Amino acid sequence: MQVFGPNELVDDVLKRDFCIGCGACVNLCPYFRSYYGKTAMLFPCTLSQGQCFAYCPKVEVDLDALSSGLLGSAYDGSPLGGVQEVLASRAGEKTGPGPFQAGGTVSALVSFALQTGRIDAAVLTDREGLIPVPRLVTEASEVATYATSKFTAAPTLAALNQGRRDGHTRMGVVGTPCQVTAVAQMRLNPLDKKDFQDGVGLVVGLFCTWAVDTRRLAALLSERVDPRGIRKMDMPPPPSELMVIDTGRGKVEIPLDEIRPLVPQGCQICPDMTSEWADVSVGVMEGTPEWNTLIVRTEKGRELVEEARQEGVLVTEAMPETNLGRLRTASLNKKKRALVRAREKGVLNTSDDGSRSALRVRDEVLKRILG
Ligand SMILES: Cc1cc2nc3c(=O)[nH]c(=O)nc-3n(C[C@H](O)[C@H](O)[C@H](O)COP(=O)(O)OP(=O)(O)OC[C@H]3O[C@@H](n4cnc5c(N)ncnc54)[C@H](O)[C@@H]3O)c2cc1C
Ligand code: SF4
Ligand code: SF4
Repeated sequence: MQVFGPNELVDDVLKRDFCIGCGACVNLCPYFRSYYGKTAMLFPCTLSQGQCFAYCPKVEVDLDALSSGLLGSAYDGSPLGGVQEVLASRAGEKTGPGPFQAGGTVSALVSFALQTGRIDAAVLTDREGLIPVPRLVTEASEVATYATSKFTAAPTLAALNQGRRDGHTRMGVVGTPCQVTAVAQMRLNPLDKKDFQDGVGLVVGLFCTWAVDTRRLAALLSERVDPRGIRKMDMPPPPSELMVIDTGRGKVEIPLDEIRPLVPQGCQICPDMTSEWADVSVGVMEGTPEWNTLIVRTEKGRELVEEARQEGVLVTEAMPETNLGRLRTASLNKKKRALVRAREKGVLNTSDDGSRSALRVRDEVLKRILG
């Protein structure tokens, strides 16, 4: 993993407009800040290597280094990443009431992890109007308050960095695949720090095909929706082709043709749909909106799911083979699109030539993915 400093981060990510505003570079130092959907470096910094660059999911992401460091094997480009089991799931009776985005699997698992002491805080994403806001919570009862999806790119990881500074040592993080990639890079101690402490106790990844730029969405909706009244946003699976906003006084439907142009460039080079570096990953379940798709990836994830099921916190069923097939296809297609775009934009590196890039993947794996 090549690590440079803040100036290279500004050149390669901010100036090229690849920043997804994940918050991984915020609250590490006084320089990087997030405001209303944008990340900026406030003052010059001359460090030649920085955590900001090392953690950013839009520069020098070495898929082999991540796979070897976290899973112990080279990155092979399989559509869903490392998988122990894929299940259908929803919150069980022991989980308090929602409203959840779908089955409430994420909130159920995170509140259970807090209750059982597996984690000492949870990094979640709230919404103030249309602005996504990071939150660090320590009480299981608070988790459901921040449920539901905010489809705007969010600076969630600013709360993780703050939590580390505040002395939390085993935080649970809920994040999109780009955020989960940043967390994975943090956990590999890329700056080889002697006093390194992995402050993360659990990673719950979300599925994500794309997100929307906060400022551009606010501009689009300014005359159609009062952001203060928004209760929930949804993007029902195809063939709906709509973003549906529940305003509390009715539902406003926006055609996805109007929303897609608001997707940041960073999403277009994102090869991960299912948060491959998480302990468990959760998405919606096509055709069954009150259930989730749950991918169990690690031993830690398996134990959490097993115990939550035994305690009535989570309900699971077998995943129908047709759903699994569609999930693999959608995930592989996202990888193909992202790698082709990254190559077109000149930010895909398939050799060890030392040049800086957004993504690094071996040539043989690239060929396998592209078929
Ligand atoms: C930007 C985005 C795109 C998505 N795209 C897809 C998709 O293409 N296919 C699919 O199957 N699922 C997608 N999802 C996931 C899906 O919307 C649900 O989050 C998931 O199914 C979990 O449902 P739940 O009922 O268990 O969640 P809940 O129990 O309601 O919990 C949702 C959790 O998501 C966290 N969260 C909300 N918004 C964000 C955000 N912007 N960034 C980080 N964390 C956030 C909250 O903190 C909360 O903990 C997407 C989610 C987001 C945020
Ligand atoms: S993508 Fe995340 S880490 Fe990279 S510059 Fe933007 S906010 Fe910082
Ligand atoms: S598509 Fe990728 S970069 Fe964009 S929000 Fe989703 S995970 Fe992040």
